Amino acid sequence: MRPNVFRPQSLQEACSLLEEHEEALVYGGGTALQILLKQGILVGSSFIDISGIPGLAEISFTDDFLRVGPMVTLRRMERSEEIRELFSLASSAYAKVANPRVRNTATVGGNIAHGDYRLDPPVALLVLGASVELTSRNSIRKVPLEEFFVDFQVTDISAGEIVTAVEIPRSIHIVGSSFVKLSSLSANDWPSASAAVGLMENDNGVHTLRLALGALAATPVMATVDIRNLNLDQTLEASLSKAMELMDPIADVRGSVKYKLRLGRVAVEEAIRSAWKEVPNGR
Ligand SMILES: Cc1cc2nc3c(=O)[nH]c(=O)nc-3n(C[C@H](O)[C@H](O)[C@H](O)COP(=O)(O)OP(=O)(O)OC[C@H]3O[C@@H](n4cnc5c(N)ncnc54)[C@H](O)[C@@H]3O)c2cc1C
Repeated sequence: MRPNVFRPQSLQEACSLLEEHEEALVYGGGTALQILLKQGILVGSSFIDISGIPGLAEISFTDDFLRVGPMVTLRRMERSEEIRELFSLASSAYAKVANPRVRNTATVGGNIAHGDYRLDPPVALLVLGASVELTSRNSIRKVPLEEFFVDFQVTDISAGEIVTAVEIPRSIHIVGSSFVKLSSLSANDWPSASAAVGLMENDNGVHTLRLALGALAATPVMATVDIRNLNLDQTLEASLSKAMELMDPIADVRGSVKYKLRLGRVAVEEAIRSAWKEVPNGR
């Protein structure tokens, strides 16, 4: 049977189509969708291709936010100089997804909506305090990324909703950050463990460490650690202890639970040491 592909020209039209055809799947870059359909994990015969809707592939800056449209490719996130300057943590996570062929096609909206526990970009976006905009025919709502990943492969997207933006607040003051991805099969592969770290500063110095983990639990997970007056060794100890509480890895072809727990510790330690080096004048 030939698939039914709708090509709406406005968001309103896309939302109406999604409401009318409940079984329809939004088509971003198709990199995950095609594989899941071939494997029979997803079943779908109707697709809503949102690539023709004006404005959905824009990157813009307001006083408060970096706003990224859902059809912006991962490659553009990796290569944008403005993003690298303001949110280098995001650039480095997007740059580590798969290979340039995938990054040239996959989209920011599709990546978030995919909801896989091993995804790289959400780990950095969690540390950056990002949120997701979801639009349906009758509403627009903004969900903090911390609440967006609900369970294994389950996100907060409801029937009829489309991811219409990912926003990163400009107010978050991170002075040192790092994203570390450790893969056991090949450098381009999904991670066996990943960690992102951001060190937050105010007038009294660095006070909080934001830590997020990928591939180490059923969803990407995040925690904050109070590191006021702690030196590097004390920060490592406090953060690793918090990280171990978050880790509940799933054994698979990329490693056993024991192996992933070990790798998770290594990723966290590496990310903290690397972020620490970026703090101006030490602490
Ligand atoms: C070979 C390979 C290796 C990979 N390795 C990695 C890796 O190492 N790290 C990593 O993070 N990722 C990896 N990925 C996954 C990649 O990041 C995802 O495939 C990609 O981000 C999905 O984006 P897409 O635009 O192609 O989404 P699609 O495939 O189009 O869609 C994915 C899902 O999201 C839904 N969707 C798409 N857009 C929207 C929207 N705007 N609103 C609501 N729902 C939407 C679709 O219906 C579908 O359920 C890999 C993929 C491949 C093929």
